[in-house]
Amino acid sequence: MHIPFDNSYAALPDAFYTRVSPTPVKAPKLLAFNGDLAKILGLSAPEMAEVAETFAGNKIPQGADPLAQLYAGHQFGNYNPQLGDGRAILLGEVIDTNGLRRDIQLKGSGRTPYSRGGDGRAWLGPVLREYVVSEAMHALGIPTTRALAAVATGEDILREQGLLPGAVLTRVAASHLRVGTFQVFAHRGQTDDLQTLTDFAISRHYPDASGPMDLLRAVCARQADLVAAWMSVGFIHGVMNTDNCSISGETIDYGPCAFMDDFRMGRVFSSIDQQGRYAFGNQPNMAIWNMAQFATALMTLRDDKEAALEEATAIIHAMPDQIEAAWLKRFAAKIGISNPDSADTDLIQSLLDLMQKDGADFTNTFRALPTAAARDQFSDRAAFDAWTQEHSARTAAEPDAVATMNAANPAVIPRNHRIEQMIVAATAGDMAPFQRLMSAFATPFSLSDADLARPPSQSEIVPATFCGT
Ligand code: AMP
Ligand code: MG
Repeated sequence: MHIPFDNSYAALPDAFYTRVSPTPVKAPKLLAFNGDLAKILGLSAPEMAEVAETFAGNKIPQGADPLAQLYAGHQFGNYNPQLGDGRAILLGEVIDTNGLRRDIQLKGSGRTPYSRGGDGRAWLGPVLREYVVSEAMHALGIPTTRALAAVATGEDILREQGLLPGAVLTRVAASHLRVGTFQVFAHRGQTDDLQTLTDFAISRHYPDASGPMDLLRAVCARQADLVAAWMSVGFIHGVMNTDNCSISGETIDYGPCAFMDDFRMGRVFSSIDQQGRYAFGNQPNMAIWNMAQFATALMTLRDDKEAALEEATAIIHAMPDQIEAAWLKRFAAKIGISNPDSADTDLIQSLLDLMQKDGADFTNTFRALPTAAARDQFSDRAAFDAWTQEHSARTAAEPDAVATMNAANPAVIPRNHRIEQMIVAATAGDMAPFQRLMSAFATPFSLSDADLARPPSQSEIVPATFCGT
């Protein structure tokens, strides 16, 4: 197999990373390979045995320059001065067939100098969860890292639940630059390195940006869109720490994430999020909070501190309106309105209020809106009927309302109970449920497998997702 590497991160100063090779594993076995993505990346004629060896980390492909990246970050609001790739290794970058530079990274590939107490490994469950959910996110049209391969290692690893089968995920990203990558240099006062990083990020992601404040503005715009996009499909990221906040604006780090079944604004899935910091409805605030940390780091590059503070403050203060506008555009489309005005916010909000009161299923309610079946989601039918009247009056002026709704409302999303069932089966060696999910989520706006649209029964409900990755 040939991977056309073209590495740029490895040419940055030594302070940015540590060169380290993946630790070989006992018995690599290919679980999943994304042939479509491989083609886009320009991988030539991959032969499957070699794919397993390569993406397990046992065979370093020619042209790779394996390294672990340094970063820091705020975790649940507390600054951790050094994180870094504790179990991930960047093999290198390729320029894909669309001309975009992409990172190819192994996750779960062994210890690095940034592993702290960890074993550098990942178990099969979270690897397949990230594989399925990130690919579903891509199919939903939302910016995200992608999954190229999943390989079982043939080694057991120890987690709270006991011994579990190990696996390695190959992740593809526009880059792995995070807010935390900037924070580490800002906090250490390494201004030259911060300047180098800023120049690198601008040339890689925002070539039109003219300096740090322009970069900040561009990243804020992407994060505003991203958080609105997540909310429009009922997605809860679960761990929006600054080290999991990508400069490229892609969704990154599918740890304790989940898609909602019944709608609740304050919904939290992650078992480690005791305070609800990353609850569904708090995600806009957290995106803004993360961008404020980014601003704080970037400001250290400027000598004119007061002017910089004023500029950064204005950029951050613009974010609530940006998110509101992106949210309105997305949610208006979900109810069939293609050119919303601010009055539509009330119409959307009153539907969401009814949904929350009646525990309506987020995905299925929106998907059913063009039909009579939407009514079944509500126990207060009179209230829903009253809403429908208002809605019909408003959408009378929208000739393509139904098409707008169907294009904005997925028929299937990766429901948590399906992910958990898939993981249980895969752990026992049965990859059929994984294949089934991958096939249905490849076209989430058409219903190919009605049973996957069904919310969990009482016994299927998974109340929390765990970070124990
Ligand atoms: P995450 O919660 O996945 O965003 O990871 C936070 C930090 O912990 C990152 O620096 C990871 O590299 C590190 N980390 C997570 N799991 C492990 C592990 N099993 N071994 C070593 N480091 C890890
Ligand atoms: Mg992370």
